[in-house]
Amino acid sequence: MLWLDRIFRRKRIQRARITNRPFPGDWLRVIHRTAPFYRHLSDDHQCALRENVHVFVVEKQFRAVGDLEMTDEIKVTIAAPACLLLVGIPHFDVYPRLREIIVRPRYFGNVIEAVGPDGRRYRIPQMRSGEAWRRGPVVLAWDSVKRSVARPCDGYNVVFHEFAHVLDMQAGISEGAPPLETKQQQVAWASVFNTEYEAFVEADRRGERTFLDPYGASNRAEFFAVVTEHFFEQPRQLAKLHAALYEQLRLFYRQNPAAWPSERSVSEM
Ligand SMILES: [Zn+2]
Repeated sequence: MLWLDRIFRRKRIQRARITNRPFPGDWLRVIHRTAPFYRHLSDDHQCALRENVHVFVVEKQFRAVGDLEMTDEIKVTIAAPACLLLVGIPHFDVYPRLREIIVRPRYFGNVIEAVGPDGRRYRIPQMRSGEAWRRGPVVLAWDSVKRSVARPCDGYNVVFHEFAHVLDMQAGISEGAPPLETKQQQVAWASVFNTEYEAFVEADRRGERTFLDPYGASNRAEFFAVVTEHFFEQPRQLAKLHAALYEQLRLFYRQNPAAWPSERSVSEM
């Protein structure tokens, strides 16, 4: 076990070197401008967010592709919402299995070919704003991140979405079951989550208009990522329309965004 102790000790020293340094003023200005939730957090949670952002930006590798140039502004704009998910759960490390964040300038994806009912071949673009890979990077489209920042209460935020996937994968298989501490919590989570998911899939199948983004009906992992977006962006509506689900998310994230004052859109970056 000695080598393991040595690794942990080295890690603790590296961390202390990062968090003992003053938090850069420029980064704080980016947080104030792009992360409206920051001012609603308690002093303890603001402090935890700054520490986690500091660790995230220094320890993770950021790579810009295409014609995008990587800047601290891009790093902090991504790190702040990613780390919001962690401020209430300090026993979680800062996404320990994630090493790299790849930022693409805009939506990305493939064009797939399909044969229509008329027998003709069609080319259908499958565009993505983000991806989270098990044992791999998180990929984000910068234009989509900026859109998420500009509309903080529309229920869509690609960073919340992809980092909810990362948390979900941390527990093992990605199936909408984030790491929960006790058996009792896991049972309560599974009961509420499965009931809500199945009712949602059924409503989607019937073509009903739903408050939750229909993309959540794809599978349980997507449902968890989508409800996380609503939890932080439209908490009061989620608490009203899906009270039991909201309660489970509140217990997991140990935050209560429904108590935050409402937000208006912030200006485009
Ligand atoms: Zn997803």
